[in-house]
Amino acid sequence: MGCLFCKIAGGEIPSEKVYEDDDVVAFRDISPQAPVHILIIPRAHISGVDAAGPDAEVLLGRLLRVGARLAEKEGVGQSGYRLVINAGPDAGQAVFHLHCHLLGGRRLSWPPG
Ligand code: 5GP
Ligand code: ZN
Repeated sequence: MGCLFCKIAGGEIPSEKVYEDDDVVAFRDISPQAPVHILIIPRAHISGVDAAGPDAEVLLGRLLRVGARLAEKEGVGQSGYRLVINAGPDAGQAVFHLHCHLLGGRRLSWPPG
């Protein structure tokens, strides 16, 4: 159905994958905003966190847990990192397949811009 991240999950479009299992895929962001910038997505197409129903609660939790594990693996577990889900226009969501950003490896300002 032409979804970029469905194609990345399925391997139709190349990406630098850092993790995958039956439910979740993680790959490096093409335009990294920090030394570590990884996107963690469900294999199944869900357009965003707003579209995730009660049946997706476990999956949503898994995205965060995989993110935390990858942060450790990428060496930013101690220095700190951020797990971010953008939703809708004000947050600048650009790809409408649910994804969680893992950002780390530099000081991240708060509040975010
Ligand atoms: P959003 O703003 O929707 O939360 O973030 C979408 C992210 O996807 C952006 O950080 C953008 O750089 C990344 N992105 C867009 N197209 C591609 C692509 O083809 N490959 C990869 N690896 N990342 C992409
Ligand atoms: Zn998709």
